[in-house]
Amino acid sequence: MTGIDDLPIRDELRGKSPYGAPQLDVPVRLNTNENPYPLPEPLVERIAERVREAARTLNRYPDRDAVELRTELAKYLTRTAGHEVGPANVWAANGSNEVIQQLLQTFGGPGRTAIGFEPSYSMHALISRGTGTGWISGPRREDFSLDVPEAARAIAEQRPDVVFITSPNNPTGTAVDAETVLALYEAAQAAKANPAGALVVVDEAYGEFSHHPSLLPLIEGRPNLVLSRTMSKAFGAAGLRLGYLAAHPAVVDAVQLVRLPYHLSAVTQATALAALEHTDTLLGYVEQLKAERDRLVSELRALDFEVTDSDANFIQFGRFADAHVAWQEILDHGVLVRDNGVPGRLRVTAGTPAENDAFLEAVRAVKKEQNA
Ligand SMILES: *Cc1c(COP(=O)(O)O)cnc(C)c1O
Repeated sequence: MTGIDDLPIRDELRGKSPYGAPQLDVPVRLNTNENPYPLPEPLVERIAERVREAARTLNRYPDRDAVELRTELAKYLTRTAGHEVGPANVWAANGSNEVIQQLLQTFGGPGRTAIGFEPSYSMHALISRGTGTGWISGPRREDFSLDVPEAARAIAEQRPDVVFITSPNNPTGTAVDAETVLALYEAAQAAKANPAGALVVVDEAYGEFSHHPSLLPLIEGRPNLVLSRTMSKAFGAAGLRLGYLAAHPAVVDAVQLVRLPYHLSAVTQATALAALEHTDTLLGYVEQLKAERDRLVSELRALDFEVTDSDANFIQFGRFADAHVAWQEILDHGVLVRDNGVPGRLRVTAGTPAENDAFLEAVRAVKKEQNA
């Protein structure tokens, strides 16, 4: 039977696995950091209205530059992220994964490298590979915090073209402060991978869940700094596929060189605009999830688990002698969490109060069985 490796695929893709969080049919799914709350009914109605309107002109290509959507995203950031930006600073694509792909197509690529500090978001490495960008795994401390001197040393030695800083970080939940980003930004510019410096991407997919203010203000006066955001988590719209970046307008111009024409469908733009009309309701859910996250942290600690401080809508916990065995045992109790391959640790997404109770009951039962 013909398999992938019998095809004339690129050498660097041979023997690799695709991104693959299991999509299993179990009662409680807390494994992909989705928002557990379905969109409120008035928003569902508004999406239907706006999509119906868009449908009337689907014979035409959509607004290639998504100006109305970028304007509303800029207003949202200005209102919630502590820094004034306009549509010229904002670019949107089909999920922040596509934003990251466009950035790597523009600033990475064959002969170039990108670094991330692992464990971190696995898609940074995967999209690097997909765009022919060499991947460098940078260090992190035992407690999963970023070791600034060590990270800066890795940047100085490896001179990457692109630096990923994920804050809050996935899967650990840890956030960094502005000083850390600035230190690594300076290190990346000093390393001079290129006479024009290096691109620093701050992936703030979980920014709305953080105890810390957004790192958005750092883009001011730093054209090589990009902030990446998504509507997949805080806006409860993972199915929409809408991510965006904020940066100097020159970065927005640069990604136009690689984006596919009309990449953002009229239906996507209409849906995202409807969701942005309901920002306040959706951010209300974020507050509930933050409270549930904090409850999970304290309950897990009360059960004697080691829990990494979390600024996101998920929690990393352990330690397990064998994380994969523990993952399966929790699954046997009807709750799907995530094994990200971090030794001894698992990750659970904050769900509804009932889902979180089911999760806590499952880990209690697993703990009892292990001690029996
Ligand atoms: C979930 C996540 C994203 C979001 O990806 P989308 O393509 O916008 O759904 C981006 N970065 C990190 C770190 C994430 O965990």
